[in-house]
Amino acid sequence: MGTPYRRILLKLSGEALMGNLGYGIDPVVVQDIAQEVANVVAEGIEVAIVVGGGNIFRGIKAASAGMDRATADYIGMIATVMNAMTLQDALEQIGVPTRVQTAIAMQEVAEPYIRRRAMRHLEKGRVVVFGAGSGNPFFTTDTTAALRAAEIDAEAIFKATKVDGIYDRDPTVDPDAHLYQSLTYAHVLSNDLRVMDSTAIALCKENNIPIIVFNLSKHGNIRRALTGEPVGTIVGGSCDVN
Ligand code: UDP
Repeated sequence: MGTPYRRILLKLSGEALMGNLGYGIDPVVVQDIAQEVANVVAEGIEVAIVVGGGNIFRGIKAASAGMDRATADYIGMIATVMNAMTLQDALEQIGVPTRVQTAIAMQEVAEPYIRRRAMRHLEKGRVVVFGAGSGNPFFTTDTTAALRAAEIDAEAIFKATKVDGIYDRDPTVDPDAHLYQSLTYAHVLSNDLRVMDSTAIALCKENNIPIIVFNLSKHGNIRRALTGEPVGTIVGGSCDVN
């Protein structure tokens, strides 16, 4: 099957691994995601993943409850490593060679982030999961996704969400919300559409990396989105707003 992509970056929030649980990781959901990623890798697409940590710990929430913000953010980053290792295990269980690289060194459990090494893994058909965010407090894993996508020369970011794409209003509250098929970065920023934080959108804009926002909970959607079927909303420099 033809695919428009050679190398992509998949952004999974921590909550994506949580399924319907209130906290932590649902192994069945992780297995499903791993299987979909395996199908994409089998198409010959190089897949890098940035995973969040919101299913375990969110720095800003702990900081608003009184914790030092930087400390809280470091805990959040360490939480993402648990998710990264969980994804690695699920992928390797089904025969997909996977490497975790962390932005905070923990060499007993994962490789440190080394850009050229990550790219070599991808060229060899391995999935690379980036853990520990950017390694810097006050950032998010969405910004990390934009940063890593630019660094490894990914052609697009696929942002998995719980809804079908980007809407003009919150679709879980307003049934008349309009689902956009395509948007410009400028429209997302000026209308504060909150699909990713503004730092992430600005980085994608500067580096001209399209963002495809799609619904993870619909079975087969990762594969559909990554193999170029029109799924969800695409954000790019030359996109029309519609
Ligand atoms: N975090 C950080 N720097 C980064 C990435 C993440 O400090 O570069 C921390 C931050 O505290 C954040 C937590 O890690 O709340 C989990 O990441 P995020 O909230 O982006 O996860 P997601 O919402 O995607 O599950």
